[in-house]
Amino acid sequence: MIYFEKVSKLYDGDTTPALEDVTLSVAPKEFISIVGHSGAGKTTLIKMLLAEEPPTSGAVFFESVNIQELPSSALYHYRRRIGTVFQDFRLIPHKTAYENIAFAMEAAGRGDDEIASDVPHILELIDLTDKKNHFPHQLSGGEQQRVAIGRAIINQPDVIVADEPTGNLDPINTYEIVQILKKINELGTTVLITTHNKGVVDSVGRRVITMDRGRIVRDDAKGQFIL
Ligand code: ADP
Repeated sequence: MIYFEKVSKLYDGDTTPALEDVTLSVAPKEFISIVGHSGAGKTTLIKMLLAEEPPTSGAVFFESVNIQELPSSALYHYRRRIGTVFQDFRLIPHKTAYENIAFAMEAAGRGDDEIASDVPHILELIDLTDKKNHFPHQLSGGEQQRVAIGRAIINQPDVIVADEPTGNLDPINTYEIVQILKKINELGTTVLITTHNKGVVDSVGRRVITMDRGRIVRDDAKGQFIL
């Protein structure tokens, strides 16, 4: 589904590459944890997948298409197939939980009827029906992250990419976020997360990719957090 072929990335002005010769393939429905020290290249790997940065050499393929070769109109559709979640939630502050999720559907051009029928299902999945009218500042960090996950999945992407999704959360909220991501994965969505958190990797219990100085140094089929 996703294939990185010998991808290297040297940012302008840097002397050492952020990614070096990374080859990686991801099958549909995998749940992959990407671990590594700060600066190991995890975020850069994600940026390559989102086509936010071009590789210096090598190529990234999504369903056998080189994403670097997509024209800008197709790039827009491609990015829609990948839902994103970040450490700092990135919700719209003046919109409620419901509206934050609904807005992602509006932006994708979906109609009012569809929005009215889909958003409640997602609120149920993230267990936030009772707080759907709360604004982000009225929600805990864990609840805000659940809204961000709801927004990421509302348009039924093929992949969810979560960059340190539990980085700002306490252990209980971290556990809940992992459970929701596992549920989404069980429903058929491929999940890629980056994390520093051993507890997250252990409770996911799936494939773990360890990065160090831009390289993949381990790729274990079943979860182990070794740094
Ligand atoms: P991680 O997510 O594992 O912390 P990053 O992918 O953010 O790692 O960074 C990998 C390396 O690339 C680091 O050395 C970082 O300083 C460098 N880097 C990341 N983004 C940029 C950028 N926009 N410009 C220059 N160097 C960058």
